[in-house]
Amino acid sequence: MALAAVDKREPRGAGSEPVVVEAAAVVRQLRDPAPPPGEPEDEAPLYAARRKIYPQAVHGTFRRIKWAVLVVTLGIYYLLPFVRWDRGPNAPSQAVLIDFPNHRFYFFFIEIWPQEVYYLTGLLIIAAMALFLMNAVAGRVWCGYLCPQTVWTDLFCAIERWVEGDRREHMLRERGPWTANRLARAGIKHFLWLMVAWWTGGAWVLYFADAPTLVKDLATLEAPFVAYAWIGILTFTTYALAGHMREQVCTYMCPWPRIQAALTDEHALNVTYRYDRGEPRGSVKKNAALLERGFPAGDCIDCLQCVYVCPTGVDIRDGANLGCIQCGLCIDACDAVMAKIDRPPRLIAYDTDLNIKRRQEGKPPQQRIVRARTLLYTAVIAIVGVVMLYALATRTTESISVIHDRNPAFVRLADGSLRNGYTMRIVNKQLMVREFALDIRGLANVSHEFIGVPGSTDGRRIVEVGPDQTREVRVLVTGRQATMPPSTPIVFEITDIATGLQAQTSDYFRAP
Ligand code: SF4
Ligand code: SF4
Repeated sequence: MALAAVDKREPRGAGSEPVVVEAAAVVRQLRDPAPPPGEPEDEAPLYAARRKIYPQAVHGTFRRIKWAVLVVTLGIYYLLPFVRWDRGPNAPSQAVLIDFPNHRFYFFFIEIWPQEVYYLTGLLIIAAMALFLMNAVAGRVWCGYLCPQTVWTDLFCAIERWVEGDRREHMLRERGPWTANRLARAGIKHFLWLMVAWWTGGAWVLYFADAPTLVKDLATLEAPFVAYAWIGILTFTTYALAGHMREQVCTYMCPWPRIQAALTDEHALNVTYRYDRGEPRGSVKKNAALLERGFPAGDCIDCLQCVYVCPTGVDIRDGANLGCIQCGLCIDACDAVMAKIDRPPRLIAYDTDLNIKRRQEGKPPQQRIVRARTLLYTAVIAIVGVVMLYALATRTTESISVIHDRNPAFVRLADGSLRNGYTMRIVNKQLMVREFALDIRGLANVSHEFIGVPGSTDGRRIVEVGPDQTREVRVLVTGRQATMPPSTPIVFEITDIATGLQAQTSDYFRAP
């Protein structure tokens, strides 16, 4: 499973003999041992059994960043449905609401209608480009810090450590017999996991209805069945993915590591073991003895602390690895070890293999954050962002759409004239009743009839559209000439009686 990228590495120190480091091969052999004697190699199992991972607690800069991200992201997710936003008497007061029954998406001051789904497309493009940009600058920083799977797994691991103890204590207990203490701890852990999973599912459904009302309905068993069903589904998936499957999701299920590997380049910063400084590795004593005898010795004391804290069980010293989510916890663990043995920090760091090679060649390291791909991603984000802002700023509060009758496209009347039928939809995005005057332009010698719309005193046809609503009007347009061109443009127009604001759309008058 592990993709060891570097097997032969140069030692630290100028003029020393190259030392072949075979640690990666040894680790691979330990993880995937050869078949027992007598068993042919091709009969060995195709799939490795899962190695249970007990991530050890760690302290340091990256752990603190991860805690901060966890608190902020989960805080937003769990509490956002309860944030209120006053939109007036006829609109929901929830700041973020996906209102399926009324076909609306509310996000603070923005209200998106179904016909404005292009905003969602813009947001998806920006999200994808932001992901690519993060990847180009600092590898899988999304995976390590922001991905929901990582965030919830982190929370579940923290609960596990709190209840079961840290790595060593937990492993020892799991190797022992089932005692009352072990049973109680396991019970408490699974109960807390289920509570978090349940609240995760509960928070999700609150985005689809007024949160305080739905909480009350859920508690009194008066909520719709679909709400309970979704809570059940999300409770199960959160409990299974974050509590049990954990790193398996990142390693086997998620497509992003594969896509990310194709999108990265040699300048992207990645959590990197600086083997130029760390090798040859060995215990403190062994390395001291080597140095005394004039042999090179690296800073890595082979304590495995970087592996013990890794949530995916990766040994970063094996090189680039599909299982590494770039969380930086091994940096914290190794920095603590370096501090204890009085060596400089960042034996593991956000770095590139290119820089390691440059340092080995005596050149200064390089950090090229501004490059063609980062500029391209930034430009796309900026362009789409500006277009979306412009569209939002110039967004109208009224619109019109028209559908031409399809079958038949036209009808010849008894007097020889031609008639086309249309369905107009008038949209009022304001939170008050509005009156619109209807008009049709662009075609001479035609009469039009707005079905069910009486004429006003000044002869105009006026319809009333309720607040934040749409209204359909059926229109018949009759051309008085016996012969007309097969397709003539025709303009439908609405004018707000109070403000004079107008909206138009066009279609065609069809003839044989
Ligand atoms: S924590 Fe640092 S010193 Fe210890 S094994 Fe990992 S890289 Fe080597
Ligand atoms: S190897 Fe280091 S950066 Fe990668 S997942 Fe493990 S702890 Fe995180």
